Amino acid sequence: MDKNTDYDALVIGAGFSGIATLHYFREAGFSTVVVDKEAEVGGTWWVNRYPGVRTDSEYPYYSFSFSKEVREEWNWSERYPTGKEVLEYLKFVVDRLDMRKHMMFNTKVEKAVYNESDKVWEVTLSTGKTLRVSYLVSGMGVLSKPIWPDIPGRETFKGTLLHTAMWPSEGFDLAGKRVGLIGLGSSGLQITPTIAPVVDHLTVFQRTPNFVVDATLSKTTPEELAHVKETYDEIWERAAAHPFGVDMVPAQYSAKEVSEEERDRIFESKWKAGGFHFANECFNDLATDHESAELASEFIRKKIRETVTDPETAELLCPKDYSFNGKRVPTVAGYYDTYNRPNVKLVDVKSTPITEFTEKGVRVGDTEYELDVIICATGFDAMTGNLTKLDIVGRGGKVLREKFAEGLIGGNLGISYNGFPNFLVALGPQTPYSNLPVPIQLGAQWMAEALSYARDNGIDELEATTESEQWWAEEVDRAGKSTVMFEQGKKAKAWFLGDNVPGKPQQFQVYMGGGQVYQDFCRQAKEDNYRSFRAPELVNA
Ligand code: NAP
Repeated sequence: MDKNTDYDALVIGAGFSGIATLHYFREAGFSTVVVDKEAEVGGTWWVNRYPGVRTDSEYPYYSFSFSKEVREEWNWSERYPTGKEVLEYLKFVVDRLDMRKHMMFNTKVEKAVYNESDKVWEVTLSTGKTLRVSYLVSGMGVLSKPIWPDIPGRETFKGTLLHTAMWPSEGFDLAGKRVGLIGLGSSGLQITPTIAPVVDHLTVFQRTPNFVVDATLSKTTPEELAHVKETYDEIWERAAAHPFGVDMVPAQYSAKEVSEEERDRIFESKWKAGGFHFANECFNDLATDHESAELASEFIRKKIRETVTDPETAELLCPKDYSFNGKRVPTVAGYYDTYNRPNVKLVDVKSTPITEFTEKGVRVGDTEYELDVIICATGFDAMTGNLTKLDIVGRGGKVLREKFAEGLIGGNLGISYNGFPNFLVALGPQTPYSNLPVPIQLGAQWMAEALSYARDNGIDELEATTESEQWWAEEVDRAGKSTVMFEQGKKAKAWFLGDNVPGKPQQFQVYMGGGQVYQDFCRQAKEDNYRSFRAPELVNA
């Protein structure tokens, strides 16, 4: 066996996951290089630069807790930071903690092959170089393979075609343009109220309406920032213990066990609190009981009808085919008000779909909409797309995408796959449905501890056992099916079931059992000396 490695670990991606992994690996004494195809750190925040992009979680738990220096010195300016501010934050973290020297930019990982006899990963880069490393970590993110709409003729359009997840780095001036928007998930919903006042005319092509919770935007104050800094450890602890990774106290009551008046009062107060407060703090069963989810749906429909002055538009905006939580909850400030603007038109493309892109715009039935710019906010091949697009070649020449085609997309705990030793995934498929910085940081810490254990105990290879993969697949399925997300998600064609990508097998892409339950499983694996991550022949060693 010739180890002869360039680094202990190579991490693909310099977003939240790559940065957290580098931090914990460096702390554990592993020489680590982070490789990113883009020109800067940021990952999702580097590529999603569309107007209006911002976090939909509040800043205290949309950040790392691991560095006291960063916590003390960085000051967020808004409750829901803009994408630009999140990017600045990540650059600050990297510079403050002197991480750039471990990073390579403008460099794509082309292929990674496990050399079984030397027990190393050979990673070919776009520079032509091949690096040999003991551990390969994917920090490629969960929503990082954008998809275009399944509509013919995209190349015939003579105007400007944009995708929210591939926004030009120099920006794009939409002022005075006739703009068409396709896609109303979180991305399209955020862009709508931001560009409406700027463009000449905005045509929104809606296939499935969404339940949009109002976000209450505000600036931070020095007093509030000081308080957050003082109590940061408690904030982080509460977020880590919350099923959705947010600093919120889980609600105690079912929506069905209070009077109608009391229910309305609670819905109203949490609607005013904004954002995920509505989804998480009203009642304890909006994600698990169909009737309760429908009560929340009806409350939002009432809000839509109260806000949107044209009754026909209001009805089109009300989701009627599925209930709240059937799609990932979007939180956006002033979305519904936008439809009261004279330069904004909603076009229903559910009853009559967009049939083609034309030279001048798009055709919907017999009508051609002439546009200068078409923005596609049509989402991602979520969770698995980034891993299947790359050749990750494990034992016996098996490629990871072949394994995914067999159905075991989550391996063990979404971290490791049988047949792919010493390959670990940060925020892999079937990890928690959550505010993401929390599982990212906890996951990076867990990986560093697991590898330290292996190093200190002479274990050459960490690799999920086949039994653990089977167990995790069953647990993911069980947990998902005990929520409303399964039935409602199917109706809504949600990405968390893979239903937004034609031909993708329907399967939970995320773990719906809650972040704290997931963390307990990770803790148990650690207490059990990572046995479920040790190939059978090594378990008894
Ligand atoms: P998405 O939720 O998958 O939404 C894609 C949209 O494109 C849907 O409205 C879909 O309609 C529409 N679409 C696709 N093909 C179409 C066609 N042929 N005709 C008409 N409409 C079509 O994607 P996303 O908005 O990018 O969001 C994905 C996830 O990214 C979010 O759920 C969230 O987790 C994350 N995200 C987070 C933030 C944030 O934190 N601030 C911001 C943006 C995104 P149907 O529903 O009918 O399929």
